[in-house]
Amino acid sequence: MPETFNQELEDRLVRYAAIDSQSDEDSPSSPSTAVQFDMLNLLEAELMEIGAQDVTLTEYGAILATIPGTVEGPTIGFLAHVDTAPQFNASGVKPRVIKGYNGGEITYPDDPALVLSPAEFPYLAEKIGHDLITASGLTLLGADDKAGVAIIMTAARHLLTTPGLKHGPIRIAFTPDEEIGRGVDAQLPKDLGADFAYTFDGGKVGEIEYETFSADAAEVSITGVSIHPGFAKGKMVNAIHLAAKIIEMMPQATKTPEVTDGREGFWHATEMSGGSSEMKLKFILRDFELDGLAATGRMLEQVCAAVQATEPRAKISCSIRPQYRNMRYWLENDMTPVELARKACGTLGLDPVSVPIRGGTDGSRLTEMGVPCPNLFTGMQNIHGPLEWISVQDMAVATDLCLAIAEAGAKG
Ligand SMILES: [Zn+2]
Repeated sequence: MPETFNQELEDRLVRYAAIDSQSDEDSPSSPSTAVQFDMLNLLEAELMEIGAQDVTLTEYGAILATIPGTVEGPTIGFLAHVDTAPQFNASGVKPRVIKGYNGGEITYPDDPALVLSPAEFPYLAEKIGHDLITASGLTLLGADDKAGVAIIMTAARHLLTTPGLKHGPIRIAFTPDEEIGRGVDAQLPKDLGADFAYTFDGGKVGEIEYETFSADAAEVSITGVSIHPGFAKGKMVNAIHLAAKIIEMMPQATKTPEVTDGREGFWHATEMSGGSSEMKLKFILRDFELDGLAATGRMLEQVCAAVQATEPRAKISCSIRPQYRNMRYWLENDMTPVELARKACGTLGLDPVSVPIRGGTDGSRLTEMGVPCPNLFTGMQNIHGPLEWISVQDMAVATDLCLAIAEAGAKG
């Protein structure tokens, strides 16, 4: 009878999820929040306890460790992020385990109005009999990405305590600040030292993702002409009015996140601040293709130029900077890590599926920096909100996949 990992995975996720490790986009420090050290320090201690080697907490807040190979083979990296999303309350998470899910609606002790329904979320209906983990109603769960951490830790513990298994050298990285796009420090590819790697940061069982958005961020500054409103006739230029015009002229019915899906890109206004004399607008621009991304950026620039032309006394500037790129541009030239994960899925009797991620992962940046890094499923669902849940049995399949990749990698 092969070892089952259910209890260990449940214990680990419940333990990790209760620790607040939310990241903060507005913080300039690295990691962005000190609470992330509560996870990092715990993982450092746990890795040492299970006998991992070279356990290191880097100055940029990543935990690195080695599982020495028992045979020759490429060095494979496994990554997960310790931070949780800033979009929803992540303090005081009370993980709850529902043993042997009965297929009905799930209610929450701390918010009676909240319901998780299998009618609304069909993947839940597939999990009858599974052990589910949810939060209590007031917070997210943080399975994104503590499920990934639990999966890698469980696989690492198994490899280190089962010396008969054949696998090449493995490197582990637990990174901070993934949710705010700052998880991959410039030093990480070199410090990781892997030939290729995987993030465990995906959803449904079977998903092997090697396409992410390409992403730019844009910032528009508007300087109007400020003067006392009582004497403003013919003189005042109100920056708020110009900001409203810019938003109004952008295509809202066809090109925003709320009206796009699949392979469509979008522009998304994330922030607007200021007053009548000065306004700042922030946008994120997303597309799977670079020419589509560039076209969206040009559209924003043209809209700014058009509004500027209506009011020469104002000063409108638009600056666009790259954030990350679709990992497919690199992986399609060398599909080795994707093929290896697919092969490992095959040994487990799983059907691998690859869908483009409408977002980015730490793997997007890593791949761009020379370490090809697709993303693998963990089971996590409804992330970044109070309805987040995960099946323990799904996590166990992901753990099996991690081990199967380690084994398949050694065989080449
Ligand atoms: Zn994540």
